[in-house]
Amino acid sequence: MDNLEELYREIILDHYRSPRNRGELAVPPAHRTEGFNPLCGDEIVLTIEVDDGVIADVKIAGHGCSISQSSASLMSTGVKGKPVTDARALMGSFKRMMTVGDDADDSPVDLRAMGEIAALQGVVKFPVRIKCATLAWNTLDQALTEMGA
Ligand code: ZN
Repeated sequence: MDNLEELYREIILDHYRSPRNRGELAVPPAHRTEGFNPLCGDEIVLTIEVDDGVIADVKIAGHGCSISQSSASLMSTGVKGKPVTDARALMGSFKRMMTVGDDADDSPVDLRAMGEIAALQGVVKFPVRIKCATLAWNTLDQALTEMGA
């Protein structure tokens, strides 16, 4: 294992053991969306508040494997306080990072711009875990769509 893989492993474990933005916001004003990954038994409960086009607050509850829960924690840190347009761009980059093989959109993902979230790129080598990693992002996507944000 090289140094970068070791660093990425540490980031994922850190977010699993000490998840950021853990809990649930009051509904309303927050919006609540649940996501499930039946293949692994992962569950994400996302509560999110969007104010004037900006993700004012986001919290994560639920349970599941280390990949699903650390991905949710990393997602929350990446989008909290950001405009919805930035969050959607980050979501797009993440899904491209998690795409195996040839894709219609093969433009390179700017991993540096993704910060700690890039730690999850190694998951793409384990196709069975990709749904674990993308669960929180798909749940965010669903929440923003439901809110019309
Ligand atoms: Zn999982």
